[in-house]
Amino acid sequence: MLPCTPAADSLEWLARPALQALIDALTARGHRVVGPQVADGAVVYRDLADVNQLPAGWLDEQDGGHYRLRRDDAAGWFDHVVGPHSLKNFLFPPREPIQRLVREDGTWREEPAPQEQQPLAVIGVRACDLAALRVQDRVFLHGGHVDVAYQARREKLFVVAVNCRRAAATCFCHSMKCGPAATHSFDLALTEAGNRFAVEIGSERGREILSALGTAGLLTPCTADEADRVRTIPHDLERTMHARVAEPGVPRPRSLDTDGIRDLLYDNLEHPRWRVVADRCLSCANCTLVCPTCFCSSVEEVADLSGDDVTRERRWASCFTLAHSQMHSGAVHATVASRYRQWLTHKLAGWIDQFGTSGCTGCGRCITWCPVAIDLTEEVAMIRESAPP
Ligand code: SF4
Ligand code: SF4
Repeated sequence: MLPCTPAADSLEWLARPALQALIDALTARGHRVVGPQVADGAVVYRDLADVNQLPAGWLDEQDGGHYRLRRDDAAGWFDHVVGPHSLKNFLFPPREPIQRLVREDGTWREEPAPQEQQPLAVIGVRACDLAALRVQDRVFLHGGHVDVAYQARREKLFVVAVNCRRAAATCFCHSMKCGPAATHSFDLALTEAGNRFAVEIGSERGREILSALGTAGLLTPCTADEADRVRTIPHDLERTMHARVAEPGVPRPRSLDTDGIRDLLYDNLEHPRWRVVADRCLSCANCTLVCPTCFCSSVEEVADLSGDDVTRERRWASCFTLAHSQMHSGAVHATVASRYRQWLTHKLAGWIDQFGTSGCTGCGRCITWCPVAIDLTEEVAMIRESAPP
């Protein structure tokens, strides 16, 4: 029998255990492979060597300020949704050395900052995070300044996306037109169906890896009917997300009315709701840290005890800190209300002016990981409801 060679736009079946061959093929090509795993009570990205590390049979329950994992033996390998980590953690890491200065004999010498050279492959990326990847590409690659460290990592990134079959109560990717179907920015995309995955090719690199699996006899062709059925899976989920209604005892499903949202927020900079939310907001910055599109950073210098070895580091920063808006005469955003307004208005309005897109992909992380359950969909709805005409 001839090995199965993937054709353009075709889907191929890969038996679930054969996903190990994909991990091995990526590793053999020099990639550091990461994928979702259960750790510290959540599904997070960790180095992935074995398919048995994947969170098979685990589901996540998410709501405002709430995240719990529970076992469900009927659940597949990827039926959890997004956890606190995203591609941002790898392409724009929380701490990164950008310069090192060493003093010897009273003279300072600059040493190149260590750079991560190994290409990265991430398995299990969802549609909302592919949309976030596009947003961060605009910021770091397509603006007036190209971030060379991001660019080096981004060019070598191999993405294995997964189409969602299930949404959390905090997900509203359907409102932001960012999901749940993976439609761009991936090398391969998997859809779990029974005991196998339908694999879709998204790039030449993806085709090359899949050809290698085909040569090893690990692929079987998907018939046209099967391919049609597989492709409806995320679209069926999208329909249920649009139709979701609150049920007793079940967390409220989220959606966000984006109609005229830019002008709605700009027209309501003095709305009393900003002060209401500020009474609850702890200004802890969790929402910005888990957000896959937030990109603010600061630069700090760290010296060893002798003071002869100094590293300049780029670190994630947050518009929720006072220092973020510090100027010669004090902080511009001196109150929590102004900081929350800055964050939400930049994300959902200013971003459109700056980058031609919303800064929100509807992943819901900021709702889940806010310790006091502040929910941006609720805040926008409250402003919309009570805004003067
Ligand atoms: S909205 Fe929530 S997560 Fe964000 S700073 Fe306020 S308390 Fe923290
Ligand atoms: S603002 Fe919240 S829902 Fe939107 S992308 Fe950021 S974390 Fe996700």
